[in-house]
Amino acid sequence: MKGVCATEKRGTKEIGSEELVGWDAVTQGVVINSFEGNATNVASLKQEERNYSDFSSYTATVASWRVVKPVYNRDICIDCQNCWVWCPDTSIISRDKQMLGIDYDHCKGCSVCVEVCPTNPKSLLMFAEHEEIEKALESWPTKEK
Ligand code: SF4
Ligand code: SF4
Repeated sequence: MKGVCATEKRGTKEIGSEELVGWDAVTQGVVINSFEGNATNVASLKQEERNYSDFSSYTATVASWRVVKPVYNRDICIDCQNCWVWCPDTSIISRDKQMLGIDYDHCKGCSVCVEVCPTNPKSLLMFAEHEEIEKALESWPTKEK
């Protein structure tokens, strides 16, 4: 993989994968590429179609410190897309206006999606990180009057 790092002259140079630098070696002015190769029209592509670089936060798992997680119940969801709009971490997976689930590699467990879900009972609920999805779904509450 090719990358760039800052030099002491505040410029950049290409480096190979064997030369990847740590965060403490990065200086002001460094350029971190989000994509490999030509990124023209990348905005019109779906996430899984984009050629993200190893430096991109999309490629890396950045949710290891989450202690609670949202669980999604497809049986109740009305595909209103509220959770997708409000998630501050783009961790709701939606395609063609249909809610598909949670991106657990990036979700931080903030519960905003649960707060904005309008169904009764909610189609998203927070559970402990270690809770199994099947058990969470079995314990789902019933409709409130
Ligand atoms: S818990 Fe927060 S980060 Fe995770 S999907 Fe819901 S709104 Fe997004
Ligand atoms: S907010 Fe609730 S009902 Fe709306 S798409 Fe998300 S999970 Fe489904």
